[in-house]
Amino acid sequence: MRLIHEHVVPPKGGYALVVEKGDHMRITNIEGTQVVDMAVFNAENPREKLSNAWSRSRYIPEDLSKYKPRDRLLPGDNLMSTGCRPLMTIIEETAEEKGVHNLYNRMCNRFLYKVFGMEKDGCAENIARAVEPYGVAYEDIPDTMDLFMNVYRDMDGEQWVYLRPITKPGDYIEFRAEMDCLVGMSNCPEDTLSDTNCRTSAPTRVEVFRPD
Ligand SMILES: [Zn+2]
Repeated sequence: MRLIHEHVVPPKGGYALVVEKGDHMRITNIEGTQVVDMAVFNAENPREKLSNAWSRSRYIPEDLSKYKPRDRLLPGDNLMSTGCRPLMTIIEETAEEKGVHNLYNRMCNRFLYKVFGMEKDGCAENIARAVEPYGVAYEDIPDTMDLFMNVYRDMDGEQWVYLRPITKPGDYIEFRAEMDCLVGMSNCPEDTLSDTNCRTSAPTRVEVFRPD
């Protein structure tokens, strides 16, 4: 594999890129504290886009009797589209515990911050700005896969609890594109309301590798 593209997304910033079929995209949590909200689209037809729910529940198990609607995605699993087709495959992740990413709660946005008295862009605005040149509008952005976000479902409290990421500096997750994919991402700017990003903001490295 050879490196064909590298970009460092600044703290609280957004970014978009096209990852061609067969290429690998690696997203590195440089300081280990940063959540990255990621939206994925079919680059040829962005109306087809990530479905977290189908990614969790539409797969072919080795043993059918062991099928379950999953709550985590692990290396080897596909990110499925709203057309129920694989967009990307998770190839590798280096964090000790696998699959610690948010697949349930929609990204932060200006509305959320306004509720708490802040005038500030969220991941939705960051991603919208990044994918706008590709013809994708704010309202067409799907629920994101929030990389490295450590969420815990408190059944007794009937709530989600946002914890610090478990990642160490330099931990990464790597995907292989199964079709040409447009990827929009945001370094989540939430640094006051919860421990999601350890109450700080950090950069993220994006690399694309091509098989020789
Ligand atoms: Zn966010």
